Amino acid sequence: MGINNREKSAAAFAEALQVIPGGVNSPVRALRSVGTTPLFVKEAKGAYVTDIDDNKFIDFCMSWGVFILGHNQEKVSKAAVDAVMRGSSYGIPTVSETILAQKVREAIPSMERLRFVNSGTEATMSAIRVARGYTGRDILVKFEGNYHGHADHLLVAAGSGVANISNASSAGVPNDFVKHTVVLPYNDTEALKKYFAENGDKVAALILEPVACNMGVVVPSEEFLKTTREVTSQHGAVLIFDEVITGFRLSRGGAQQRFGIKPDMTTVGKIAGGGFPAAAFGGREDIMRCLAPDGPVYQAGTLSGNPVAMAAGIETLNQLSRSGFYEELEERSNKFIEKLEKIVEGKGIQLNRCGSMFTLFFNDDPVRNFQDTKRSNQERFAKYFRNMLSRGIYVSPSQFEGNFISACHTQEILDYVLQSIKESIE
Ligand SMILES: *Cc1c(COP(=O)(O)O)cnc(C)c1O
Repeated sequence: MGINNREKSAAAFAEALQVIPGGVNSPVRALRSVGTTPLFVKEAKGAYVTDIDDNKFIDFCMSWGVFILGHNQEKVSKAAVDAVMRGSSYGIPTVSETILAQKVREAIPSMERLRFVNSGTEATMSAIRVARGYTGRDILVKFEGNYHGHADHLLVAAGSGVANISNASSAGVPNDFVKHTVVLPYNDTEALKKYFAENGDKVAALILEPVACNMGVVVPSEEFLKTTREVTSQHGAVLIFDEVITGFRLSRGGAQQRFGIKPDMTTVGKIAGGGFPAAAFGGREDIMRCLAPDGPVYQAGTLSGNPVAMAAGIETLNQLSRSGFYEELEERSNKFIEKLEKIVEGKGIQLNRCGSMFTLFFNDDPVRNFQDTKRSNQERFAKYFRNMLSRGIYVSPSQFEGNFISACHTQEILDYVLQSIKESIE
């Protein structure tokens, strides 16, 4: 394992640059912030990815958290292939949409009604539109460093790839488009209470990552999470949990099950589509009733509820409902994290973790919000990334992302990773 040669990837990248801006279809994939160039993938299986130069890597990015069962899980892939052979899109309903919707609701009961879309971006965008339609209010409150996809009004103080550009916002978004978006610091209960005490009656929705994963993993205090529920209930605002990463990750029922808080609306994606472009938004029946054709809020999609994605999602959720799945994943993650804690102790590194997700920050002080994450030493992180890569391990290629342990990351693999982390940070 490890890099022997990256000639073919380098050539593929040079060619991609001639036709695709930055050579990639999503910015972080360019690996620019970690001072290198992308690997081009040939295939993946389980915890491993193989590039076109035949280098084999242990993957900790796992398509940004999609593959909790591992890459190319046999039954999931077969379900998708079978679906393709029956036709890949109709623009007419299929039973598979209802089946997957039922499975999502079974896992996340607060999603009393839900609708499928093609990406997490669409899911949050649609959820917010429904919340505004329902409340008749305009203001959206979000938290610094939380990422909710790339819709205009959400590209303010955003995490993920946006965090790598200077002011964590995007050019090309008119001020008028974001004038209804209010940004508060994550994990700051007092600021949240104060804002709602003064403005709560004008707020349509409060959206958050119930565990932040797009500024690296940042776990909220229990008090902070509880307060998001309290202030929104008090002021008639819609509480939206963006569980695009945490849904089916932190427990079968996501962060809301893990922390015992029931939002009004929820978005899921990544895991839910089994590796295909599917995501969903949903919530209380009386809120979701606002959607066309029942209500006045419009939302639609040519490929929404795509039968191939539905088939992969159904098979994925079937496997996740096996009893003991999350307990086993949690236990293996616990053991790994315990050993990792010892390795990073006294090394000027903060280990943030929730369940099977973790991030290393090259920072002396605890990391609880976006400002803290920005103090992490980017140069040290970049070096760590390249060191790990040279040892055959692809950790998430940005300080502002999480790493994901899957069902295929065996004890043996994790022990090799621990050894590599130890060597890399030394
Ligand atoms: C990935 C992500 C999104 C965006 O989903 P896409 O499918 O990339 O559009 C939104 N919210 C959160 C929390 C995410 O992690």
